[in-house]
Amino acid sequence: MMGKAHLIIGTGVSLSLLALTGAPVTVGAVGIAAISSLLPDIDHPNSILVTRALPDRLLRILQSAMLLIAAALLFYAPVAQPWNSVLAAIAVVAMFLPEQALRKGAFVLIGLAVIVLGEPYAPWNRMGGILLIVFSLAPHRGITHTIYALAAWTLLLYGLTSTHGASIWLAGGLGYAVHLICDSLTKNGIRPLPPLKWKLRFGLMTTGKKSGQRIERIGIWITIILFAGVFGIRLLEWGARLYLKWTS
Ligand SMILES: [Zn+2]
Repeated sequence: MMGKAHLIIGTGVSLSLLALTGAPVTVGAVGIAAISSLLPDIDHPNSILVTRALPDRLLRILQSAMLLIAAALLFYAPVAQPWNSVLAAIAVVAMFLPEQALRKGAFVLIGLAVIVLGEPYAPWNRMGGILLIVFSLAPHRGITHTIYALAAWTLLLYGLTSTHGASIWLAGGLGYAVHLICDSLTKNGIRPLPPLKWKLRFGLMTTGKKSGQRIERIGIWITIILFAGVFGIRLLEWGARLYLKWTS
């Protein structure tokens, strides 16, 4: 699926669902929903598909946002050292190494470092290191299109922001999940639980083909209808209140 469709459907659907849970739809929630709806495809920024779909500037913005998250992890992470540094390193590597092979190599090295250096801190560090290596060697769409990545991203946001309410981590988790669901509609599908070979694939569309564009358009219309249904009444209420305040 193209980046634009991901952005519209991911942001629109996750904000609608967020509103339905009763959590406030804040500016931060809108931002994180938009970032999260595109984040899984940062996995392959040099693929034709993504560069064609994502304007260069948007990619830069995503990378800068990731850098900020890396810095936040380093200083305010919910977990103890050395995990702060490891998470920050993963974030930076994922964003900035252009070659996929190079990126995978870096992830494997970080995983090895975690196994060797992390052992004295806690025994489960070794497990984390092994998982990181398994993920980075997983072929195809790789680590970002898995349940693990969805869980890690949501937990990360939860750890960083849950003291300020549920809006941010819910919006981020929903945005990411909607992206994965949209990709599972394609012929390629996703492999959500590597190293299991099981694929989540509905095969409704091929990205870039005419039929694919039609499915994307249908998805966008469903999003608009859902969004209007959830926010239409709120907007009217808000307008009416503003009008009354203004005239009284
Ligand atoms: Zn994707």
